[in-house]
Amino acid sequence: MRLCELGIAAARAGLAKGEFSSRELVQSVIDSWREKNGSVGAYLTFDEEQALALADANPGAVPIAVKDLINVKGQPCTCASKILQGYVSPYDATVIARMKAAGFIPAGRVNMDEFAMGSSTENSALGVTRNPYDLERVPGGSSGGSAAAVGAGMCVAALGTDTGGSIRQPASFCNCVGVKPSYGRVSRYGVTAFASSLDQVGPLAKNVEDAAILLGAIAGHDEMDGTTPDVPVPDYAAALEGATLKGRRIGVVREYRDIAGLDPEVKRIADEAVARCAAAGAEIVEVSLPHAEYAMAVYYIIAPAEASANLARFDGVRYGHRSQRSQDVFTLYTRSRAEGFGPEVKRRIIMGTYVLSSGYYDAYYARAQKVRTLIRRDFEEAFASVDAILTPCAPTPAFKAGEVLDPLTMYLNDLFTIPSSLAGVCASAVPAGFTAATPQRPALPVGVQFICGSFEEAKLFSISKAFEAS
Ligand code: GLN
Repeated sequence: MRLCELGIAAARAGLAKGEFSSRELVQSVIDSWREKNGSVGAYLTFDEEQALALADANPGAVPIAVKDLINVKGQPCTCASKILQGYVSPYDATVIARMKAAGFIPAGRVNMDEFAMGSSTENSALGVTRNPYDLERVPGGSSGGSAAAVGAGMCVAALGTDTGGSIRQPASFCNCVGVKPSYGRVSRYGVTAFASSLDQVGPLAKNVEDAAILLGAIAGHDEMDGTTPDVPVPDYAAALEGATLKGRRIGVVREYRDIAGLDPEVKRIADEAVARCAAAGAEIVEVSLPHAEYAMAVYYIIAPAEASANLARFDGVRYGHRSQRSQDVFTLYTRSRAEGFGPEVKRRIIMGTYVLSSGYYDAYYARAQKVRTLIRRDFEEAFASVDAILTPCAPTPAFKAGEVLDPLTMYLNDLFTIPSSLAGVCASAVPAGFTAATPQRPALPVGVQFICGSFEEAKLFSISKAFEAS
C-alpha cells in the first residue's frame, strides 16, 4: 500500500509516530501521479519541486490536492480553460493560507469542468479524467479531478468547490465523502468565481473524520470575503465523538418518493440508507419541499446570470489568453473570448446575459430570486421538525464518457443537490453502497446526501459519521 492511500487522520498518526516523513508522504503522491495519471487523469499539473520543498519546510504536514480554480502562489490556475492557460497565481487563496497554517500543503492541481460548469469533467479544455472504479466512466463534476484523485488513492484528500452539486455528485461517483459547507462558512478569496451567491469550497476525503478535519482547517470569517460572518468555527473533529443516530430525526422528502429518472439501484441504496438510519435508532420523518421542483429552473437562471457577470473579467487584457487576430479593442475582447472559452461556458454566458437583459430581467432573474426565497423557506420549515434531510446524491451512478450529450440531461445530475445550494444550507455526500454488477455495468459506488441547516456543520458531521459507522 502507498502512503498516499492513507486518509488525513491516519497519515497524521503515522507522521506523529515518526513512521514516515512528510517528504515521503509527498513522494508517494508523486509516485502515484506518475503511475496512474496516464489512466485516471485526475491531475492537470503537478509541481513536484514545490510540493517536496513545502514538505521539507513543514515537517508533519499532509499534502492536499487542489482543484484548479483555487489560487496557490506560483502555481498555474487555469480553471481547466484555454483562456487561463499560462496564468500563474501571484497569491494564495485564503483557504490555502489557512490550510498551510493548519499543517497541510497544496500538492498537485486537479482537473475540473471548465470554470466549474458541468457534471462530468468532460467540459475540461485541458485534460480527460476517468472514474477510478471504471475507466470508461466519468468521475462526475465539476470537481471530478478531486474525486478521482481521492477515489483512486492518488492523494490523501482534496479541495473542491460546489455551486450546485460539484463536490457531492463526484464524491458519490467516486466513493468519497464530500461536504458542501453552508454559504458563508468558507472564504472564497482567491477562488475563481462562478456563481457568487452559491459557490463554496469544501473537502473531498476518504472518510467523514478527514472531511471534518479539513473543513475545520479552512472554515471561518475572512476580512477578504464579506460573505463570511464572524461566527466561531466549532471543532468539527471533536463533534464526531460519540456520534450516534439514536434520537436523531431524519427527514425523507415526500416530493422525491416517486421521482422520475431515478436509477433503480440508486433508489435501492437510498432506501437502504433510510433503513440503516432507522435501525441505528433514528426517527424517520416525512418532510415536504414543495418548491424543490422549481430549483433546476431557478438555478439555471441565477447561476448563469452571475457567471456572465463574473466571467466578464476574462477579456484578453487582464488575464490569460489574448487573441492574436484582433485589430481593435472590441475584436480583442470578442476574439479572445471566442477562442478562449469552451462551448458550455459560452452557453452559460449567453443564457446569463439574456436573463439579465432589460425587458427580461423581471420575467426571469427577479422572479427566480423570489422562488429561491420560497425554496429557502421550505428548508427552514423542514428543519423545524428534523435534524437532517436524507436524499440520494445524484439520480444515477457514474455514466459512460460521451454518453450524456444533451445539456439538459447533464443538468439533471444535480436534481437533488441544487435545492440545498439555493437555500445556502450545508450538505454532505457519504458512500452508501455499490450497485449490483450487470453485464452492462460493473458495481459502482453510490453516495447519499445528508442536508442540515445553515452553519450546522457540526451536526452534519456527527450524523454523517454515525451513518458511515452504521
Ligand atoms: N453541475 C452544475 C453546473 O454545471 C453544478 C456545478 C457546480 O456545482 N460547480 O452548474
